[in-house]
Amino acid sequence: MRFPLAPTAKIARHIVKHKLKGSGKFAMVLQLEPLHTCNLTCTGCGRIREYSTSLKDMVPLEQCLAAAAECDAPMISICGGEPLIYPKIEELVAGLHGQGRLVYICTNGVFMRKKMREYLASAYTPALEPQLTRLLSEKLVTEKEAEAIRTADAAARSKVVIRPSQWHYWNVHVDGLEYTHDLIVEREGVFKECVAAIQMAKILGYQVATNTTVYKETETAELEEMFKYLSSLGVDGHTISPGYDYDAAKKDMVKRLGKDPAQFFLTREMTRQKFKDIERWGRMFTIFGTPGYLEFLAGKRELACSAWAVPTYNIRGWKAPCYVMTEGHYPTYAQMLSEVKWDRFGVDERGCGRDPRCENCMMHSGFEPSGALSSSPRDSWINFKYNFGSRPAPYPSSPELTRAAFNGASVGKGHLAEAKEAVNREFAGVKSAFARGGNDLPHDHDHGGSGACSSGPSGAAGDQLADLKAKIAAAKKIEVNSQ
Ligand code: SF4
Repeated sequence: MRFPLAPTAKIARHIVKHKLKGSGKFAMVLQLEPLHTCNLTCTGCGRIREYSTSLKDMVPLEQCLAAAAECDAPMISICGGEPLIYPKIEELVAGLHGQGRLVYICTNGVFMRKKMREYLASAYTPALEPQLTRLLSEKLVTEKEAEAIRTADAAARSKVVIRPSQWHYWNVHVDGLEYTHDLIVEREGVFKECVAAIQMAKILGYQVATNTTVYKETETAELEEMFKYLSSLGVDGHTISPGYDYDAAKKDMVKRLGKDPAQFFLTREMTRQKFKDIERWGRMFTIFGTPGYLEFLAGKRELACSAWAVPTYNIRGWKAPCYVMTEGHYPTYAQMLSEVKWDRFGVDERGCGRDPRCENCMMHSGFEPSGALSSSPRDSWINFKYNFGSRPAPYPSSPELTRAAFNGASVGKGHLAEAKEAVNREFAGVKSAFARGGNDLPHDHDHGGSGACSSGPSGAAGDQLADLKAKIAAAKKIEVNSQ
């Protein structure tokens, strides 16, 4: 089976129950944002911009649990902000499991190893020694950390922790290979930490998913390499969704990066181009998504938006109409369902936006459930086949795959460090990741018949380099030679 039986059966029962009851609209996945604080400032993230005035506020634990109970979604995606910063994250996960829900923690991966060390400290017995020894040999924990785990005190042993479970997924944000990912999260070293966290999680028996947002600058060849690498690490599944040009992210781009959002976000036509291989990827890798949604992304069909099925709850309440767009916040899910004029949003049968802001949206939070909830016999059959069919085998690991993944710079030194170095030397004779166009992978842009790329930065990588140089120059108040 592609997914664990018990959670899959629970989700199927939930859909059947609502169809039999004739519920028009109901929740499938709750996007629960207990806080918007984050340790990163990813390019394209609207949250830390839209909620910039309430970054220090948090939804109390009981309120989070009550929101999940009210909408009764079988799946909860705890996002934010960085949810591992939420002080009661362990209690929140335990409470949601107590309600019988499947929990995804959408994380940037930076604090995952700390949380898993806490689990080890609480659960340690000599029976865990083989895993601990392996973590040590793969340098995923230090000797000092291993000793702290073995000698944990009563407080550490009684702490509520996040344990491996078929009802829990770490859902790690990965937007590309090292160069691209660190560029998007605007910090070097994050990709490397994500990989270490995924490796540690798999050794300890956790389920791990990844989530990827595809932007205009994302190269499809790189995405396939990324899936191969993540699959070789034993990742259990991947969600992938096109980026959306919501207002807060757009404004931030103009103000902070001096960048034109049209250069960064996708139109529908571009999305279809980027996702033309998605169905093949669905056969090669465990892509989380209904086959209907994959067909939609590949441009083979239209789907209506079902944003009400993936509601967002945060410090201001139930965010309407959807995860990306904000018209208002409601005190209850029921009130949001009944008061929002849902037919003003989404797209019509021809794929035209009913609201101009919906025009280019193909986000999973709007359209993914539409495939799952469709009652056409064909959709029911392809969903059944996809979910209950065999799971794609992990991609074989190899040193070449790992080398291709760590393409940004030498280990421990990301692109920004290299850019700074390049700026400091005014680019004199510096050979960098930029000079490789950001990676060494085959890529899908036109070589103009020459059969090879020029040695200098060009296209997307050139744009990114120009951005970085501009940021660094602004910070240092120096002029940087752009040639
Ligand atoms: S199409 Fe749906 S999910 Fe996308 S912006 Fe419009 S309402 Fe939101």
